[in-house]
Amino acid sequence: MSSRIFNFSAGPAVLPESVLQEAADNLLSFNSTGIGICEHSHRGKPFMAVAAEAEALCREIAGIPSNYKVLFLQGGASLQFSMIPMNLLTPDKTADYLVTGAWAEKALKDAKAFGQTHVACSSKDANFNYIPQQVSYSPSPHYVHFTSNNTIFGTQFRTEPAGYASSAFLVCDASSDIFSRPIDVSRYGIIYAGAQKNLGPSGVTLVIIRDDLVEAGSSKLPVMLQYRTHAENESMYNTPPTFGIYLMMLVFRWIKAQGGLGAMEARNQAKAGRLYEYLDDSRLFKPTAERSSRSLMNVTFVTGDEATDNAFIKATESNGFSGLKGHRSVGGMRASIYNAFPPEGVDALIQFMKDFEAARS
Ligand SMILES: *Cc1c(COP(=O)(O)O)cnc(C)c1O
Repeated sequence: MSSRIFNFSAGPAVLPESVLQEAADNLLSFNSTGIGICEHSHRGKPFMAVAAEAEALCREIAGIPSNYKVLFLQGGASLQFSMIPMNLLTPDKTADYLVTGAWAEKALKDAKAFGQTHVACSSKDANFNYIPQQVSYSPSPHYVHFTSNNTIFGTQFRTEPAGYASSAFLVCDASSDIFSRPIDVSRYGIIYAGAQKNLGPSGVTLVIIRDDLVEAGSSKLPVMLQYRTHAENESMYNTPPTFGIYLMMLVFRWIKAQGGLGAMEARNQAKAGRLYEYLDDSRLFKPTAERSSRSLMNVTFVTGDEATDNAFIKATESNGFSGLKGHRSVGGMRASIYNAFPPEGVDALIQFMKDFEAARS
């Protein structure tokens, strides 16, 4: 596949080449059935086996305890911003939000329609370039919501927030770092992630939710918006995003073959480590995130001069790199290097940056 280039897109993002190759083969005829994967009924045996394997591998890879449901939903991570408070927050209860970026702000905004909210911390004062160390929780939050990786600003929690009342359950938007490192699911009430960064194509959202929270959800909501509907029907109440679930299954197989989440973490640390090491030494480029908050998934950096940033981005685009333009709210550059991003691509970018820097000095 020599026609492929290095794609640093923040999402939808690069997928493992072997996964794409296998999916391409099965688009025309899935497992020699004579029917393509997108053309199979979700109630038929071939697809039911795919869905079952996707769930089983997800549980195996992440060590998900048996008292959690694994759901494949639609509506993106963005629907979870409202679906969680809609099901679990009431006007007499307070939910605490750690506001570490634009996605966290959106989640907070949606919660306000259903109950009380409390901002336990915010890094907005510095354009979200750090993860706050000081967090002040409300006395007894019903749940605590955080965004484990801030895709736009290039910051990431090293570990779960702690110190809130033990009666609260933890909710995590893990859209942009799910399965990039080992995770102790038992610390969470709900983990959710749109697939298009680390798990598969857009159109499917992974939700891992503890059984008691499924049961506690409001039953006065439209059927499609209740977790129990999807839990009771194994994500097949209506037609699920079959191709997305299939691709996610292939990605789970790939993660397992790479050695699981521990191996993913080592690979991600090595990739991001080399890039930050170069950025720290560079006299032209500077990382934008505070050192202790740096993301292993989205590496944000600037030159400090907009015209130079633009010249650099333009140069990358005519040299086999794509997707390096930073989000408009940060400016500069962003290299998204999720699980599937190849280490060679990081090394090629570093070499290109070195050459660009040398040519300017
Ligand atoms: C991309 C992203 C979202 C939005 O996901 P959709 O699936 O487009 O709704 C939410 N949160 C984070 C952290 C993201 O990176």
